[in-house]
Amino acid sequence: MVIPKVELHCHLDGSLPIQTVSELLGREVRQSELQVSEDCRNLAEYLEKFDLPLQCLQTEEGLKKASKAFLMDLQKDNVQYVEVRFAPLLSVNEHLNCRRVIQSVIEGLEEAKKECNIFYNVIACAMRHHSEEENLEMMKVAREFLGEGLCAVDLAGNEAAFPMENYVELFGEAKKLGLPFTIHAGECGRVENVIQSVECGAARIGHGIALRGNRDGIALCKEKGIGIEMCPISNLQTKAVQNPSEYPLREFIDAGLRVTINTDNRTVSNSSLQKEMEFVKKQYGITDDELIKLTGNAIDVAFAEDSVKEELWRRLRGV
Ligand SMILES: [Zn+2]
Repeated sequence: MVIPKVELHCHLDGSLPIQTVSELLGREVRQSELQVSEDCRNLAEYLEKFDLPLQCLQTEEGLKKASKAFLMDLQKDNVQYVEVRFAPLLSVNEHLNCRRVIQSVIEGLEEAKKECNIFYNVIACAMRHHSEEENLEMMKVAREFLGEGLCAVDLAGNEAAFPMENYVELFGEAKKLGLPFTIHAGECGRVENVIQSVECGAARIGHGIALRGNRDGIALCKEKGIGIEMCPISNLQTKAVQNPSEYPLREFIDAGLRVTINTDNRTVSNSSLQKEMEFVKKQYGITDDELIKLTGNAIDVAFAEDSVKEELWRRLRGV
């Protein structure tokens, strides 16, 4: 069964088609330069694969072409709606300011949308290793695009080294700006990061693995209807859990959390939503009905406007 898909956690730089990277770098790029091997040992090894794609995202032209190719490529996975995230400040340089960076990405996506009819929204990621001042400036620029191709902000980067308490003020500002947000938390860090993210107003949590076995954390997320963006294949590659049996997908579903299934990085992880779904069916006994339910969760917790959500429900009910 091919379900219409909704993707909420997908990084642009980690999801560029290989031929687009080759084209933008002007040389034939090998798969192994962009993709982790089967025996990926840790997050550090995983993150090395972002160097080349990031080089492609340093000009308006590169950002536009990459974004367009990214969205066009989702057709083969039957994706109907995507929230694609990236860190604008990683593309800012002496020739390119933050506003142009975000604008270029939206222009590329918009061009593709006209051809492939996939709904999209951009999530702008603040980075943990950037200063609060830089991140806040970025958010203020992102705010200008809210409802015009951008739907939310996020916090990404090294969670283990930079705990959530350092960003409570920043996301307080995001709230004041009227920006919805999701936060990477409990991927390679402690459950406290998840709890603090929720307490400071995150509507969704990226990964949230650290909630495993934590009754209070799970109860809090359930009570607040927090969307949990799980990325099974990526989480296993980065060793967010040591082996598949420790992965809390079934636990979270049974606990009544609003779980969603995502790819994280289509190219780096060599994944698609079709692959993720096949994987969780096989590995965790998730049924087709449950996959439809998880897709429904994704529609419910998406940062999309109501008219888009209604259209997505229509497409999902058509299954
Ligand atoms: Zn992520």
